[in-house]
Amino acid sequence: MEVSTLSPFCCIPAQRGAGFKLRRGQKLRVVSPEDMQVADLFCYSVSDVTETLSSGRSIDYNDTIYLTQGHDLYSNRSNVMLSVLEDSCGRHDFLMTPCSLRMFQIGAGNADHHPSCHENLVQAFQDLGIAEDTVGTTFNLFMNVEVNSQGLISIQPPKVRAGDYILLQAQMDLHVGLTACSHPETNHFHCKPIHYRIE
Ligand SMILES: [Zn+2]
Repeated sequence: MEVSTLSPFCCIPAQRGAGFKLRRGQKLRVVSPEDMQVADLFCYSVSDVTETLSSGRSIDYNDTIYLTQGHDLYSNRSNVMLSVLEDSCGRHDFLMTPCSLRMFQIGAGNADHHPSCHENLVQAFQDLGIAEDTVGTTFNLFMNVEVNSQGLISIQPPKVRAGDYILLQAQMDLHVGLTACSHPETNHFHCKPIHYRIE
């Protein structure tokens, strides 16, 4: 009988986040345990937290806005931070910033509190002493954003189905923040958990 050395999956409850260190060479598997749930990811270099994940550099070097298996995610200094080794979903977004309290307040026209990926990421990185405004455009795992020929964008129901996953490998030591997205419309009107495991 084969003995598994893999640790069990960690669960990020609905509308919450997690922060952890990913060493160079380690792999991060992110799974949607239910249909149609998005997970936002952002990261900083451990050696210098002013080096951060860059959507613009990643889109530029990969010549696509739809990053998947075989693509690398770059930092603002053009270094590879993460490589996408496997991807059973095939659709992620790298255009949108994480949902934020202000975004919800503007949308609702009130000042009520609403959980958000931005707040959860800031909390995940709170021990790093970084300014919250440095949390930039996230790699939005499983988020389905369509762009039409006129350049108009629309958030569509995620294509991800229960058990779909993406496997990323760190190419430098990273501080990673990961969320179960808090925005009901992005997640087909029902916010659900996200599972992850470091391998
Ligand atoms: Zn979100």
